[in-house]
Amino acid sequence: MRLKFLGTGGADWSSATEDGFLRRCSSAIIDGVLLVDPNPQCLEALDTFGCDRGRIKYIINTHAHEDHFSSDAVSELEKTGAEFISFKIGETKTVGDYTVTALKGNHAVAYTTHFLISDGKNELYYGLDGAWLMPDVFHMLVDRRVHTIVLDATYGFDFYAGIFEHNNLGMIVEMASVLKKTASQIFISHLSKKHHSDHKTTAEALEEHGVQVAYDGLEINI
Ligand SMILES: [Zn+2]
Ligand SMILES: [Zn+2]
Repeated sequence: MRLKFLGTGGADWSSATEDGFLRRCSSAIIDGVLLVDPNPQCLEALDTFGCDRGRIKYIINTHAHEDHFSSDAVSELEKTGAEFISFKIGETKTVGDYTVTALKGNHAVAYTTHFLISDGKNELYYGLDGAWLMPDVFHMLVDRRVHTIVLDATYGFDFYAGIFEHNNLGMIVEMASVLKKTASQIFISHLSKKHHSDHKTTAEALEEHGVQVAYDGLEINI
């Protein structure tokens, strides 16, 4: 399957940086048909990155925070045939050609729904938003040798109280040191504007740890 990152920012990206780099609110689309997180910026992102809105068949949502969910965006995509599919934690559903399982994420007031998405060949774990993985999820990722892992990296190397619901880069490095033994690729997304330096600096700092930094419009094979 192919995943395109439509947005890779935390909620504090209201504008581009001085040199024109922009991260939108985090969302992603799989094979052009399965949208993860219909946020307020996803329609513009779909148009900007050449995705045909009319091809979207399914919408799933990690959680109701406003940088991940917009009822207006859902209504707009439903007009062209998309279907919103809700999940309870622990539930597995067949969604078109995919098997999707909802897992518990460690985030904020209500636990988020992280998704394990399989196309029958490879598996993707989409883990936004959230801090340290829940123990059962961690073991599942290792035991199943999940191919591609996307983690929340809202904060940089600094300590910040928000790490109790979002990862910082130190936590990413710790988790990646184990996860990279079984995963083929690890990406971070949901980067805060305030807490990170520029994309290139972050990407270079994480390269030696086996972690890649997603950016808006990046398309990957899984
Ligand atoms: Zn959130
Ligand atoms: Zn968020």
